[in-house]
Amino acid sequence: MTSSHSHLRDTDPAVAEAIAGEERRQENNLEMIASENHVSEAVMEAQGSVMTNKYAEGYPGERYYGGCEHMDTVENLAIERAKQLYGAEHVNVQPHSGTQANMGVYFAVLEPGDRILSLDLNHGGHLSHGHHVNFSGQLYDVEQYGVDPETGYIDYDEVADQAAEFDPDMIVSGSSAYPREFDFERLSTIADDVGAYHLADIAHVTGLVAAGVHVNPVGDADFVTGSTHKTIRAGRGGMIMTTDEHAEAVDKAIFPGGQGGPLMHNIAGKAVGFGEALEPEFAEYAERVVENAKTLADVFQDAGITPVSGGTDKHLLLLDLRDSHPDLTGEDAEDALDDVGITVNKNTVPGETRSPFVTSGVRVGTPALTTRGFDPDAMETVGELIVERLNAPDDPDVASEVQAEVDRLCAEFPVYE
Ligand SMILES: *Cc1c(COP(=O)(O)O)cnc(C)c1O
Repeated sequence: MTSSHSHLRDTDPAVAEAIAGEERRQENNLEMIASENHVSEAVMEAQGSVMTNKYAEGYPGERYYGGCEHMDTVENLAIERAKQLYGAEHVNVQPHSGTQANMGVYFAVLEPGDRILSLDLNHGGHLSHGHHVNFSGQLYDVEQYGVDPETGYIDYDEVADQAAEFDPDMIVSGSSAYPREFDFERLSTIADDVGAYHLADIAHVTGLVAAGVHVNPVGDADFVTGSTHKTIRAGRGGMIMTTDEHAEAVDKAIFPGGQGGPLMHNIAGKAVGFGEALEPEFAEYAERVVENAKTLADVFQDAGITPVSGGTDKHLLLLDLRDSHPDLTGEDAEDALDDVGITVNKNTVPGETRSPFVTSGVRVGTPALTTRGFDPDAMETVGELIVERLNAPDDPDVASEVQAEVDRLCAEFPVYE
């Protein structure tokens, strides 16, 4: 796709050129950042529309402004489609992002100083789960659980012991870099036993859950939050799902509690993306995402690069480079791959010894490549290219060979035709 953007090119060539450059970057690189994806042109049309002009404070049928009939239509479509995808009793599609969705849940049922038990950031957790640089760490008293350093899996008996001792008001599950499914049911039981709420943050796996290829916490957890731009491909934003019991508290916490006017153009994008996710092709897509990630895991395993926990249940792998490449940091690996058109991010690994700016691992995800049509054969090639590059990060011949293969794959699988 080369967008015409004719008005923008006339009035603001600098921004137009940056957008065109980004289009080329996305087409010509292998995007393997696990939280990223390519939305459809239909989602982009909805997002880049007059819906951005309208104030619609309030909720469908109860707005503080006139002229909201079309706002009600798209917001109701987004809500109804999300209910169908996840089986939730109540859905709020107004959070500006996943972080705001989590904020909405905390504001709905917690008081400052209340206790949160969540997954450690170094073990795959998220800033908004109580990190000290985030409002969540500043407002609440936070303790964290981790993964077993030997197995890479969460030890739920230990979480239960920690919960009994810490007596949290809320247990948060969900992650950015944990390659395994959470046992949401078990965590809900642990939360019940200590009288805590359970918030399941499915930010990364919203698409996999919608398609039924990942366990769905709706029905077990009191609150389920997510980002809408990751595996679900519905454009940038967030969402909250809950039961009728907590519906009013959640809605009030988002508006007027934490946000003003909803981003109606993004809500239109969510409606379109959720509609796409209801089609049978989306389930095939989500299955392929996981199949591709497992294929990559096998390639790395064969090359002696251990994925944390030995593999993956979902769309991402966390590669611990310490055994196979003790001198190569996560930062080096990210740079070496970036040089040849493969975009990944450095990531801390369980038992990390280097700083978060350097790290000993990289996180690799398959959602974006799968959207552009990569199948397990193509993904195997990608895995081999990554291994080749990491094994010889200073060899210019290897670099040009890998770059040529990346170019060939990008041409074979265009993002936007
Ligand atoms: C991505 C992510 C979020 C939300 O991030 P936003 O950038 O605010 O949408 C929340 N929780 C987890 C676990 C995530 O991975």
